[in-house]
Amino acid sequence: MNNVMAYAAFDPKKPLGPFTISRREPGINDVQIDIKYCGVCHSDVHQARDEWGGSIFPMVPGHEIVGVVSKTGHAVKKYKVGDKVGVGCLVDSCRTCSSCKEGLEQYCENGSVPTYNGLEKDGKTPTFGGYSTHIIVHEDFVLKIPENLPLDAAAPLLCAGITTYSPLKHWKAGPGKKIGVIGLGGLGHMAVKIGHALGAEITVFSHSERKREDAKRFGARNFVVTKNQNEMEALTNTLDLIINTVSVELDWNLYLRLLKRDSSMVILGVPSKAPEVSAFGLIAGRKSLAGSLIGGIAETQEMLDFCGRNNIVCDIERVAIQDINTAYERMVKGDVRYRFVIDIESLK
Ligand code: NAP
Ligand code: ZN
Ligand code: ZN
Repeated sequence: MNNVMAYAAFDPKKPLGPFTISRREPGINDVQIDIKYCGVCHSDVHQARDEWGGSIFPMVPGHEIVGVVSKTGHAVKKYKVGDKVGVGCLVDSCRTCSSCKEGLEQYCENGSVPTYNGLEKDGKTPTFGGYSTHIIVHEDFVLKIPENLPLDAAAPLLCAGITTYSPLKHWKAGPGKKIGVIGLGGLGHMAVKIGHALGAEITVFSHSERKREDAKRFGARNFVVTKNQNEMEALTNTLDLIINTVSVELDWNLYLRLLKRDSSMVILGVPSKAPEVSAFGLIAGRKSLAGSLIGGIAETQEMLDFCGRNNIVCDIERVAIQDINTAYERMVKGDVRYRFVIDIESLK
């Protein structure tokens, strides 16, 4: 399997365009996947524009990949040709450190291998993501997509789904818990759907009035427009957990005030510059400011199965690969309901 058609970023300031990549032949433990759809995560924009520094170009983004198995290495046990599968943000890890042994490959102490904008374990082969027609991945990093979920709307579960499911489970979202979700974008709308399905009461914090009805439709009990100071103050000391998905700088101190004693705000969004946090805001009330990175492979499968049982998928807008640059512009403006998903057929 050489020459695979793809779309790439060549430079942080230039639009993405067509590119041909070379992928390895499947090894004995590898699965070859014909990609059908790939979600567009805000992290794709951050990395294609080198907003976090250290980006590797040319870059083929995309880590919300779904497709169908088209070939397997002879030692592959879990998958066969024709299976509906997915690949998320990771394609390998060391498998020996304590995090890997606990199924937390995303925190691999020797550095996990990201699906794109990284290097394979050989330290020199760049990884290329899902804005492409095929991908070859070790079976341990391939996920099974539940049969009842439509492939296109399931694609964003591979990042937006697991990134919100993991902290909701870790911080014990469930009945009787009041949870705030800041930002109703790709991650945020999944946090609402999953948090609601776990039985928690969800309050959405949004920077405009526009998404109120959608938030309710996804299962939120309350909706607060963040510039409305009275509504914000009325929630002081009421929340058990806040999931912050916003990709731009916010005043985190305003939200720490809304937490009950001993509660946490978990940062998922990655603004280029972190805001200043008042020590008193944490000390008074023994509060925690935490972060969380995607999720491990076992937990990603658990999330997919949970979404299958509860019929949870993303609200998506399907786009052709030729429209990716417009999709990026719209995403940066917050103009997406609620995830762009690339139809990979348009690449062929
Ligand atoms: P997204 O779809 O663009 O959503 C971000 C949301 O931020 C917007 O929908 C918007 O919601 C809100 N927002 C607040 N103020 C805004 C402003 N001034 N301009 C634009 N939007 C504003 O992005 P996403 O894909 O959910 O990703 C969110 C962040 O999480 C990104 O930084 C991404 O890199 C990061 N991420 C982290 C992980 C992880 O493992 N921790 C994984 C994936 C992504 P409202 O309109 O409701 O305010
Ligand atoms: Zn992502
Ligand atoms: Zn490891």
